[in-house]
Amino acid sequence: MLEIDSSKGEGGGQVVRTSVALSAITGIEARLTRIRENRPTNGLSKQHCVAVKAVADMTGSEVIGNHPGSRELHFRPGNTQMSDIRLDIGTAGSISLVLQAVMLAGRNHKQKLKVDVRGGTNVMWAPPIDSYQQILFPFMERMGINARLEIVDRGFYPDGGGRVIAELDPIKDITPLIIDTLGEFKGVEGICYIQHPREKIRDDMISACVETLGLDSPVNIEVQQTSGASKGAGLSLMAVYENGCLGSNVLTTKGHPAKQAGEDVAKDLLKEMSSGATMDIYTADQLLPYMAMANGPSEFTVSRISKHLLSQMDTLETFLDVRFGVERKGPVYNLSVTPGGKG
Ligand code: ATP
Repeated sequence: MLEIDSSKGEGGGQVVRTSVALSAITGIEARLTRIRENRPTNGLSKQHCVAVKAVADMTGSEVIGNHPGSRELHFRPGNTQMSDIRLDIGTAGSISLVLQAVMLAGRNHKQKLKVDVRGGTNVMWAPPIDSYQQILFPFMERMGINARLEIVDRGFYPDGGGRVIAELDPIKDITPLIIDTLGEFKGVEGICYIQHPREKIRDDMISACVETLGLDSPVNIEVQQTSGASKGAGLSLMAVYENGCLGSNVLTTKGHPAKQAGEDVAKDLLKEMSSGATMDIYTADQLLPYMAMANGPSEFTVSRISKHLLSQMDTLETFLDVRFGVERKGPVYNLSVTPGGKG
């Protein structure tokens, strides 16, 4: 059995999601301690519990200690597969983060996995669900992993009320991903999601974003105006290149009004674009588990090594036969992922 000190590195929910998913697919029993010890509210939150229960249910695993506030988990992997699951986070907890665990746990599923999940679609400190459709899923498709989703309802903090139906086809061999250069820049594509009576938010955010980008290349922003129980607005952007893309995103909040949000998301994207990195910092830690299970080495560059990346590498090395290499390469960091590389 593996003992995982969950407080190491980033020390957040990600180590829990990745660990239970890896335990389920490798069959290695795991005991997690010091869960979210460095966060203001220690232990598991509702979102984490829903993800852990989903992983356990869909793989016939047994889990002890899975309740809000819990600082320890014991996960005993099982060997049955459930392919149609319904989940309700019950708050505005991130649907994307629950899917992060569920999709990884579906690595060995023999049948198409269907997940119907309710919660928040666009919440702080989590990937906007849009970024899965724009960035994560297209990269996964290049690796031979086919996933898709439908945003049935959008859900924002604090009321939630979002609903997403996601599907993952059975995964066979995973193709490695090598992106040494992004190639020609094609333009920026974005989604502006707004579920708010004040439509001016949308116009202020988009015009500030386009102005700050100040690009000669095309900038196409699709507006998705919806109605629902919760209120919110934001932008999810991607800079599109011949060989890949870079993302940035923002949500408006009371302290982060539309114009400022539009400027900030544009500045974040320009920063990633000028860094010379071939993958943005968020996509990198989200794709890493699939690279670690690919049938050959992957390689890409990032503008910095985030704590999320370090934690992912640590957790993946604990469960899998994989070796990571990090090397400074001028202004960026080259990250190599070698499955079977422990030697
Ligand atoms: P905690 O509450 O302890 O922070 P958590 O479960 O909410 O736990 P983390 O462990 O911090 O989350 O993991 C967050 C994940 O969301 C990481 O994969 C990170 O890359 C991703 N992420 C965070 N913010 C964004 C963002 N703005 N865009 C895309 N991805 C994001």
